[in-house]
Order: sequence, then structure tokens, then C-alpha cells
Amino acid sequence: MSDLARVLLAPGRDGPVRGGHPWLFSGAVASVTGDPEDGDEVDVVGADGSFVARGLYNALSQIRVRLYAWEPVALDDAFFARRIADAVRLRTDSLGLDDADGACRLVFSEGDGLSGFTVDRYGPWLSVQLTSLALARRRDALVDAACAAVPCAGVVLRTEKGVLQEEGLELRDGVLRGTLPEEPVTVREGALVFEVDLRTGQKTGFYLDQRENRARAAAYARGRTVADVCCYTGGFGVALAAAGAERVVGVDTSRPALALAGRNADRNGVAGRMDFVRADAFGWLEAEGAAGRRYGMIVLDPPRFARTRRGVRQAIRAYERLNALALRCLEADGILVTCSCSGRVPAEGFTRAVAAAAVAAGRRVQILERGGQAPDHPVATACPESEYLKCLVCRVT
Ligand code: SAH
Repeated sequence: MSDLARVLLAPGRDGPVRGGHPWLFSGAVASVTGDPEDGDEVDVVGADGSFVARGLYNALSQIRVRLYAWEPVALDDAFFARRIADAVRLRTDSLGLDDADGACRLVFSEGDGLSGFTVDRYGPWLSVQLTSLALARRRDALVDAACAAVPCAGVVLRTEKGVLQEEGLELRDGVLRGTLPEEPVTVREGALVFEVDLRTGQKTGFYLDQRENRARAAAYARGRTVADVCCYTGGFGVALAAAGAERVVGVDTSRPALALAGRNADRNGVAGRMDFVRADAFGWLEAEGAAGRRYGMIVLDPPRFARTRRGVRQAIRAYERLNALALRCLEADGILVTCSCSGRVPAEGFTRAVAAAAVAAGRRVQILERGGQAPDHPVATACPESEYLKCLVCRVT
């Protein structure tokens, strides 16, 4: 046994961790010996003292230990560099996401065995998110490893709200390596190009997780009048217009997102068939329905409605309401593309919300296709929380 500090599992609470789950919550810890500092490497041991897993400790977080290895290996810079190289290899060798002008998620936190570290590549620029204190302390080594694994002209750090309370971690967004262009950068997705604002855009800049679902939706677009609700920078709308939609209206509350969406429409030669409206999704759909306006296709891609377990019921009601409003605006034989990125809302719960919306709106809904997050956002079977995106393509009569 190593001379690392040891975290003893509470009896009966060791199941997930033994099964490879990367989060050891404070409630599953019986005791800690060896007085580890926040960010230190620790061994997690069973009631009989035997080794279970190795991770990084943080007394400030509900996730007391984030686990990275189920064998006694050193969690040093070389370990994390190997894991990052492995994540990159999946994108390049198996997924073919190595287009120099393309974009992909290079590292997906728990999905890649790197809980707390996410990297998106936009051409030669990397956008990094750190959500664990221990990995934030190893930031330079992690960024070096990412830059060694792919061509890298610059790295920017983007922080999600909430990390400070959850992890006791204070981070300042900004450029970590190289330079970042002042203007949005341009990346390719299939035959389309999108401008991405790496400095102030949402998330890490672009919703890469919807890549396959945009293509899926595009197959139904020809000749239809489309509403892209919660359009952000136009990901779905531009793809649908380019696939032959007759007209597309994009709706979002964010002024900067809509400005970029307009530029994206322009760059892809579809601005003549696209309009953008700054409005609340619920209010806008309600007004369209009341005015008798009908669409041949509606995309719903709202932000995460449930952040916590307690918020799930309310989130499901919000999905019901939003989907019912959209169903009322669809023509007969219309297509509804409806998404949920709330990891807390399970796929069945989301499907039930759409079913309830169908009843409320008095429409018949047939699910044609189901999509999840793009494969560069892999789901670790040991960590169900790494699965979050659901997309249903439905026919509505
Ligand atoms: N479909 C987009 C991603 C959508 S992200 C793509 O493929 O790129 C969710 C979007 O919902 C964000 O742009 C956010 O500004 C917007 N949003 C949040 N609340 C909203 C509301 N109440 N009404 C309309 N848009 C909203």
C-alpha cells in the first residue's frame, strides 16, 4: 500500500465507486487518514483496508474525491497526458474528426475518464473548461498535454458559473497560451461554416454535441417552413436552410447569439431565407399559435431546465409546456425536432413529457428517430451522468 492519505469508504456505500464511478461523495466517506490537502492524490480503500481506487481530494466539494484510476498508479502529469492523448486518439483515429478547420470536443470530462476537464477544438484553437479544483491546480500540465496532442495556436479558458460554490475554485477566464483572434473564429461542420465566439460565446462556444442531430434534422427540411426555437448562433436553422427549407425563423433571447446567427446565415448563403427574432421561446410560440401561424417543422433546443435533482419535476413540466406550444404551431404532417440537454431528466422522462404535450395539444405524435450527444461526447457506462442530450425527431399529424 502507498503512503498516500487514505479515504475509507462507508459500509454499503462503495458500490458505484467499485463499479468505476468517478465521483466519491462526502456521504460515502467513513473517515480520512493522513490529512490530505485539497487537490492531493489519495487512495480510496474498502472497510477491510484494501485498495479500491485512486483519486484527487477536495474537502470543499460534495464530490470529496474524483477518481481517475482503479489500480495503484501515480496520478502525475504523465498519467494525465496519457489520458488526454487517448481521448484525442478516439477523435482522430476512430471518429475521423481531424479536419484542421473543423471543430470537435477533444476531451469530455467523465466521458473520457478525466472528471473535471473538458477541451473543445475549434480549428487550431482550444477552449478549455476546468470544473475540478484538483485539475485546475494541474492546469498548466494539462494544457501542455492537450497542445502536444493536436496542433494548437492558442488556448482560452472558459468557466461555468457555479464552480466557485461547488469546488471552492476561483478561475479567471482568459487566454492561457498563444494568441486568440479578436474576431470570432470560423470552423467547418460538414459542408457548412460557422463563426464561433471563443471569448464570450455560451458553453465553450458552439454546441458540438448536436452535430449529428443537425444532420438528422436536415434530412426532413426540404420545402418546409421552419422555426428554430432557441437557435443560439443558428446551428440547426442554417443547416436546415442549406438543406432546402423554404424559410427559417430563428428565435432566441440572446442578442449576441442572434447577431452571430445572422452572420452564419450570410456565410452559408442562406440569409435570404432566414429571419431572426429576439423573443422568449414560450411567449413567441404562444403568440404564433394564437395568430394562426403554422410551421412545417419546429426545432426546440432549450437550455438545461434542471440543474439539480430537485428541479427535475419542474423541468419536465417546462418541457411539456414548451412542446405543447410547439405542437399547436405545426402543420399536419409536420416535423418536431425536440431536444433536452438536462442530464437529470432521463430519456424516458423526456419522452413522457412529449407524450403529455401531445395529449394537451390534441395531436398525434410519432417518434421517427432518437438521437443523443455526438460521439465526441462519449458516455461512460460507469458514469450515467455523462449521458445528457436527448433529441427526438417526430412526425406530427
Ligand atoms: N440550437 C443551438 C443551441 C441552443 S442553446 C445550436 O444548435 O447551436 C440554448 C439557447 O437557448 C441559447 O442560445 C439561449 O440564449 C437560448 N435561450 C435561453 N432561454 C431562452 C428563452 N426563454 N427563450 C428563447 N431562447 C432562450
